[in-house]
Amino acid sequence: MTGPSPRTLGAAALLLLSLSVGLVMAMTMLVATLAEEEDANAISASCTVTTVGHDEQDEVAGVPNGWTPLVEAAAQEAGLPTSLVAAQLAQESGWNPEVLGPVLEDGTRAQGLAQFTPGTWATYGNGGDPFDPHAAIAALGRYMAALKNQVQPIAGNDPDELVRLTLAAYNAGPGAVQQHHGVPPYPETQQYIAKILDGAQSTFSTDCEAPTGSRTWDGDLGDGQWTTPLPGGVFTSGYGGRALTGVPSWANQHVGVDIATPGAGNGNGGVVVAPTSLRITGFNATDGCVIAKENGPEPDFGFAFCHLHSWDVTKGQKLKRGDIIGIEGNRGRFGMATHLHFEIYKPDAPDLVFPYQGHNLDPEPILKEKGAWPR
Ligand SMILES: [Zn+2]
Repeated sequence: MTGPSPRTLGAAALLLLSLSVGLVMAMTMLVATLAEEEDANAISASCTVTTVGHDEQDEVAGVPNGWTPLVEAAAQEAGLPTSLVAAQLAQESGWNPEVLGPVLEDGTRAQGLAQFTPGTWATYGNGGDPFDPHAAIAALGRYMAALKNQVQPIAGNDPDELVRLTLAAYNAGPGAVQQHHGVPPYPETQQYIAKILDGAQSTFSTDCEAPTGSRTWDGDLGDGQWTTPLPGGVFTSGYGGRALTGVPSWANQHVGVDIATPGAGNGNGGVVVAPTSLRITGFNATDGCVIAKENGPEPDFGFAFCHLHSWDVTKGQKLKRGDIIGIEGNRGRFGMATHLHFEIYKPDAPDLVFPYQGHNLDPEPILKEKGAWPR
């Protein structure tokens, strides 16, 4: 069974979307230029989609044509935030109830507000008309509820992960989520999740809630103190989502903390060091990231040290606390001031982890607890 996958979203719907966000884009241009410095200056429109069960009075804004009650009912049916369902509908059809997707391999086309394929509509449409907004929005609620049920065992008791996995199932199919036991490693799916979460918070949420993704580690931190990963640096930006246009979605969902050497500007900064014993597990050259895993007693956290100007470590190399990893820089896919973007991954994460795979922890409380918080 294929869902109303955004993969089938035609240029027409994209055009509609870009038209509808055009005004907002214009208004946020100034913010976008500021965002070129990424998080180094603690720009934070910190406001993310609410999580399941956390916000029963989830208020939604920006739903056109008096459809808010329909979207609220669908969200309730699915047990998902209203703003999230609104963001999905906007993404699918740009709120045009008559839109037709491109012709699919089987000759059919996705239809209406929620862009259901005829096959999926036969299951979730309850005999209604896919071009009728009432029927289409209600069917999306039923469909999301079904997907959520299917991925619930994988999400465990993590409500934020359940939201992400449900979106992943919508985009890539529940089979892919089951096969990968999490968000599948497809860039398109990861981008879809980011886009819907960002849209939910920036366009359809009335209240700026505390960031969804903020994860605190309540397990054992192991013995011993760490050292700050950028000696001499100062904390500039914390963990959590924001809603800036003009930056990639992964940067908007800020899944780390930023530490910067004062006065470094756009030049090379300070020396980045291992906060504790670790082994190098890989690199993300585009964003200047050195990826590592704790090497020593439990709990075996993972780490990412990003935007480095350069590094002098090799895969598999083991470092002790304070050993040099590389030089603070501003390497990345868009312009920014020099700073270290630092991430911590849960102990059960694979050796090589990148953002948006659901493994992030908020580094701040961990660094503080380990005596390694920058002054
Ligand atoms: Zn950062």
